[in-house]
Amino acid sequence: MQSQHKNKFEWACAIMVTENEFIHEILLLLEKHETDKIETMGVNVQEGRLHLYYNPKFFDSLPDPVLFWVFQHEMYHLVLHHCTKRKPSDPHENDLHNIAADLAINCLIKESLTCKRWESACFPQKFGFETHLSLEKYMELLRKKFPPPPPSQSEPKDGDDKGQNQENPGSSKQQQNSPTSGSALPQPFDDLSGWPDIQLAA
Ligand SMILES: [Zn+2]
Repeated sequence: MQSQHKNKFEWACAIMVTENEFIHEILLLLEKHETDKIETMGVNVQEGRLHLYYNPKFFDSLPDPVLFWVFQHEMYHLVLHHCTKRKPSDPHENDLHNIAADLAINCLIKESLTCKRWESACFPQKFGFETHLSLEKYMELLRKKFPPPPPSQSEPKDGDDKGQNQENPGSSKQQQNSPTSGSALPQPFDDLSGWPDIQLAA
């Protein structure tokens, strides 16, 4: 079963050459891992190696033109250094950074008959933001729209919440999803903070 998904996934990466050769070339460089530990698809960089993780159910659910759009989305995260030197210095801003990166990227992907956006992704219009801004500018806008909760409510007691501050993709979600701003921060469909615990899941 798993090899069936892998074969189809490799085929999709190969056929991407007809859609976007640049993206295709980057896809070839990736170590690809099938896993059910994430819901969708995502990339990270570990020890200088590029990794792409995907949930086979998510992969199977996408029509080819949407899959090609998602491939481009993920490769842009890599080429724009969202997983490396442009990662946020404050891990509490991981979710904000992920969304800002998605907003910036999703303005760059050109749609066509064979490349259709995944409608569940984040787009500037959904937030009332201008299109085609930088990741940094979207971070500024998101900070204003989704201010963090007051420190007295968000700080864990006695530091017993250690382990939340490193590359732990699930760690900052509750904090950033505070209802204090009136509306919760939506989730990006991929998380660039890394899934470091997944390792070579396949
Ligand atoms: Zn993304």
